[in-house]
Amino acid sequence: MNKVLVLGAGQLARMMDLAATPLNLETKAFDVRIDKVVHPLANEHTYGDLAQGIANCDVITAEFEHISHDVLAECDASNKLFPSSEAIKIGGDRRLEKALLESCQVANAKHKIIETRHDFDAAIEYLQLPIIFKSALEGYDGKGQWRLKEMSQADAIWADMQAFVEGAKTSVPQGIVAEQMVPFEREVSIVGARSRNGEIAVYPITENHHTNGVLSVSLAMPVSEKLQKQAFEVFEKLTRKLDYVGVLAIEFFQVGEQLLVNEIAPRVHNSGHWTQQGCDTCQFENHMRAITGMPLGNTQLIRPTAMVNILGEDKVDDAVLAIPGVAMHWYNKEKRAGRKMGHINVCGNTEQELADKLSRLATLLDPQAFEDLADFADMLQNRVNPK
Ligand code: AMP
Repeated sequence: MNKVLVLGAGQLARMMDLAATPLNLETKAFDVRIDKVVHPLANEHTYGDLAQGIANCDVITAEFEHISHDVLAECDASNKLFPSSEAIKIGGDRRLEKALLESCQVANAKHKIIETRHDFDAAIEYLQLPIIFKSALEGYDGKGQWRLKEMSQADAIWADMQAFVEGAKTSVPQGIVAEQMVPFEREVSIVGARSRNGEIAVYPITENHHTNGVLSVSLAMPVSEKLQKQAFEVFEKLTRKLDYVGVLAIEFFQVGEQLLVNEIAPRVHNSGHWTQQGCDTCQFENHMRAITGMPLGNTQLIRPTAMVNILGEDKVDDAVLAIPGVAMHWYNKEKRAGRKMGHINVCGNTEQELADKLSRLATLLDPQAFEDLADFADMLQNRVNPK
């Protein structure tokens, strides 16, 4: 079993391939935009269509959850798909995701599914303002969301959402989930792997910071055992219910000492990129190990690590590389405003050292392109060394 086909040909497939090669695995990627199997590092090399890709591999996996159900059905028929198409569909549809959380009795924000104006009005009454409305399908990085803060906005938001749902070109009907706004203290996630025989290995929970709705920095430092245990229990419940195989990410809102699930991603995740330098075995390698039936690797944090996303930039000052413990990961993508182009992992032997390196990094990077980084570094300095 050494040939893997990844559905999707973006940076996640690329990093899966980079981690899989030393394991003697051969990775190809199915680019859904051109309906062709490509090389995950050199997309100009093509290897036929999906049917050929399926026939020529031992295992199929996915780097994103918004995959057309026709493609999933074709993969399912081969019995090679891990995680299952059910898990992928749940990750791509907030209605199914909420149903899964409820069926596992996992804490999440109070919510209602909306189809009609009557549902909309009833949801407002049930949830109370402020409310966030999210598209059921194809919502990511804050896209397809409406925030209702006062009743005067209700008619306009309803009209906008209705037009959005009617105009959707999705393979299953688009819909809306209304969710109570949670007054969270911070956003965290847990990334972990479950193997074919049910073995589980999770990474320490990661603190996530967003800029304009997109993840900008993830921070992995030693965490409270109580929170880690809570996150682990959710991971265990959900993966057992789904008989999940591969890496799964779960995003949470932390309110006091409680974690509420925001969403799940049935794949390797941006908030787990720090594991490339912060752990013995990164999330990409563990995903490939899990789906191909190998034992899972160590997921312990070996040193405090942060990941800084590079958004909309295709170069940074080389001096960044002179900071010890800094690793660059470019995705070889064409520059576009706001696009995830790469990330920088920064490690320190201590939390103070990590904070110092982030402060130094912030002075080397364009403050417009990395607009919150200096503030983030200051925040971390204050946290590790309170005045
Ligand atoms: P999502 O696409 O669901 O991850 O939402 C994007 C961002 O919107 C999250 O990272 C949060 O910062 C914010 N958000 C989403 N849902 C809620 C909620 N129920 N309460 C407060 N903030 C939210």
